[in-house]
Amino acid sequence: MRRKHTVCYICLDPLENYTPDEIEYDHIYNYADGHPQELSNFAPVHASSEPNKANCHKSKGKKSPVEYREELRILKALKAITGLKDLCPKAVPSVYSITPRFDTITINGTALPLYNQRVGGKDNHYFFHEVETKFIENDDEIQLRPLEPKILPLVFNLKRSVQLLPTLGRLDAESKTIKVFDGQHKAVAQIVGNNRPTIPCIVFVHPSVPELRVVIYEAHTDFVQQRYKKSHIDAKLADIYRQRIEAYRKQVGDPNARFTEGDILKGESKAETRKFLMASIIAEINLDRSFVRDFAAEDRQSQKRKPILWQSLERLVGKFCKLDAISKYSDDPDNYRSDEVDNLCFLLDQIEALGIKDKWSADNADSQLHKLCRTYFYKTAFNRWIDVLAEALKFALEQRNGAKIYEPLCFQKAFPGDTKARFIQIMRKLFDHPLWVQEPIQDEIAKANQDIVVGNIFKRENLDYIYLTKL
Ligand SMILES: [Zn+2]
Repeated sequence: MRRKHTVCYICLDPLENYTPDEIEYDHIYNYADGHPQELSNFAPVHASSEPNKANCHKSKGKKSPVEYREELRILKALKAITGLKDLCPKAVPSVYSITPRFDTITINGTALPLYNQRVGGKDNHYFFHEVETKFIENDDEIQLRPLEPKILPLVFNLKRSVQLLPTLGRLDAESKTIKVFDGQHKAVAQIVGNNRPTIPCIVFVHPSVPELRVVIYEAHTDFVQQRYKKSHIDAKLADIYRQRIEAYRKQVGDPNARFTEGDILKGESKAETRKFLMASIIAEINLDRSFVRDFAAEDRQSQKRKPILWQSLERLVGKFCKLDAISKYSDDPDNYRSDEVDNLCFLLDQIEALGIKDKWSADNADSQLHKLCRTYFYKTAFNRWIDVLAEALKFALEQRNGAKIYEPLCFQKAFPGDTKARFIQIMRKLFDHPLWVQEPIQDEIAKANQDIVVGNIFKRENLDYIYLTKL
């Protein structure tokens, strides 16, 4: 097999000087994805354990060689460029003519409709075209920014997704070239990642550069669209997840068909799966309770009105719920998804009753009770007591059951009454711990910017799972 390969499939460096046990034969495409177990699907890669020799087999991790080779190629290509100007250093001047009525432009042999945005009595003509890369260059007068690190994920994104917005350019009357002044990242991503010979562009015809500069400056500062709020993203993800379930059921021809989360989230990474399940659990909570709407702050602004940060909410869900896709069917009695939401809602009810109700009062922010509530929910404090609480509840249940619990606490049959009573006891001890009401400690917690600082306060004040579960 060696004879036809002389270089490593991944890094393309020679295999000479590598002994047979320093070379691995990898599936170029994953066998698991249905690719054949044939000789042609195997390729040699460096796999030396010597420190000064390559181990491409190890560094590719779980990726297939073909994926990892492409990633290396892109990284290498990007390393060599600082912007579109390096890929398209000097545009070939375009040959073009415009009809007297300004409704058609014929450019480099293609006739295209011209559009006009008339603003303040002035014409602004433009056209849309897939422009060959040889005809474009970076606009040094307007586009000054170098490539940003976000280019890398964009390259990978555009390898599997459609590009929604075109690049923007202008046809310069003097040089007759198309100069790209906005969307160079997209252009670079398409050229490097997809080897595209053309770039989708909106091109303005002979615009005034100083005016364009002002418009672009304003667009990137004053009128920048608000980033999506985390809560909106969660809602969106939950929607997508629900739609996927519907689509799956449609496909199998039964509106109530059972499914596994693996079916629905097939192909998603672990991190994406986590996000989908997190979002769907939060959406389920919202059907049963107003806790999230009432107490979780969606942005900095609403932190004054609501005690819990969105990221803390997500942390809580992540602590108590299972965020891996379940392989059991949706109607399997051992699939505890709906019990899980009930159990989590029970915990949220207690947090509300013991920590928020009659305490949180945004209109009376100087009150002692408000300050107490604020202290519970400072990010660092909340992060720590969530951990201590999870530990205590689990410990109590394990003692009661006489068996270890391996799954997240809420992922089990709905808590029976006596378990609930025990949990309430533990949670009351948590919120009634003397440390919360001491002003010096409140101030210490308010200033803490790392979880470990509050962790040390808890240690010093004996707030741990032993204290919480002591009868
Ligand atoms: Zn190699």
